[in-house]
Amino acid sequence: MSSSVIDFIATEARFGAHNYAPIGVVLSRGEGVWVWDTEGNRYLDCLSAYSAVSQGHCHPKILAAMVEQAHRLTLTSRAFHNDQLALFYEEIAALTGSHKVLPMNSGAEAVESAIKSVRKWGYEVKGVPDGQAEIIVCANNFHGRTLGIVGFSTDAETHGHFGPFAPGFKIIPFGDAAALEQAITPNTVAFLVEPIQGEAGVVIPPAGYFPKVRELCTANNLMLVLDEIQTGLGRTGKLLAEQHEGIEADVTLLGKALSGGFYPVSAVLSNNDVLGTLKPGQHGSTFGGNPLACAIARAAMRVLVEEGMIENAARQGARFLEGLKDIRANTIREVRGRGLMLAVELHPEAGRARHYCEALQGKGILAKDTHEHTIRIAPPLVITSDQVDWALERFATILTQDFS
Ligand SMILES: *Cc1c(COP(=O)(O)O)cnc(C)c1O
Repeated sequence: MSSSVIDFIATEARFGAHNYAPIGVVLSRGEGVWVWDTEGNRYLDCLSAYSAVSQGHCHPKILAAMVEQAHRLTLTSRAFHNDQLALFYEEIAALTGSHKVLPMNSGAEAVESAIKSVRKWGYEVKGVPDGQAEIIVCANNFHGRTLGIVGFSTDAETHGHFGPFAPGFKIIPFGDAAALEQAITPNTVAFLVEPIQGEAGVVIPPAGYFPKVRELCTANNLMLVLDEIQTGLGRTGKLLAEQHEGIEADVTLLGKALSGGFYPVSAVLSNNDVLGTLKPGQHGSTFGGNPLACAIARAAMRVLVEEGMIENAARQGARFLEGLKDIRANTIREVRGRGLMLAVELHPEAGRARHYCEALQGKGILAKDTHEHTIRIAPPLVITSDQVDWALERFATILTQDFS
């Protein structure tokens, strides 16, 4: 590493809160699936900023929409209308088949907004006694970092020493419909769940789980809230991961790729009267629904569809998964994934996933470890067959080494 790179890293360490432990690479440029560091080394981005850059780095059409809008109008607040919000609503509703939209900024804000909305729906529509609403969530969930959300995390790192927390959440195992059935009471207003648990290490529930969940939510009059912030917008090879399960959520949360990585944009989508319970003054956000965000999100959704990225995610995801499964290495315990949301789980004896990610960096691939023994792989959805094969060669080289 050159002295300038060490300076960047040292300066971050000196002034920044140490709430991340990044791999030792300083990036300065990106294009499509590639990123470059300050020394000119090129890497295939197999993280895509946790799926926010699904459309590829610096997509020219999203960039053009952003620059054009930034010249005209960036922020009005919702005290006034703007000429982008209605078009954003129309287009996201048409794309996802939703009836109502609440625009926010970060993913965590979309989750918080959904929690507030389903509680309000519970009191005003379902008739739950005030202050008694219960929301069921899953163990090993990841829904963001606000106080409300980390209070129902089961990961000690995520919630430790941040309490006290808001009550009203019940935690059940993921993928266990019988546990959901048992946890439901007359005061349950919603079940909040990820279609595939991303941060937990790409955990795919058993077949038949979500149809059963859908049935239980309908039968007990509670809202099924699917957090598709990571799985949505093509990542799993379909527009929404719920389509693999043949179900429809009552409330769907989108974020991350909704802006193609240019700007934080999130949304709560609903198919019923949940969002209708919010009246003027009861919820809001200074930046939520601003014209710059709307113009960027409109372009991000448009290129996803026009450029066939969702179909490509299905095709290249299958190729990547097969290729990973073909690697004969004692280090690998399991390979799993759907579309371009993939993970390699290592045997605990093989050493920490972090060491493999650092070795991959040396081969021109940036990937991220999660939970000690899992390497997650989520390249931009524009990846080509040749690039998948190029990556597979490098994964094969690294995974057949021993870093224990
Ligand atoms: C990333 C993520 C969030 C939080 O999004 P932020 O924009 O980081 O607040 C919530 N839910 C899921 C499933 C995520 O992957």
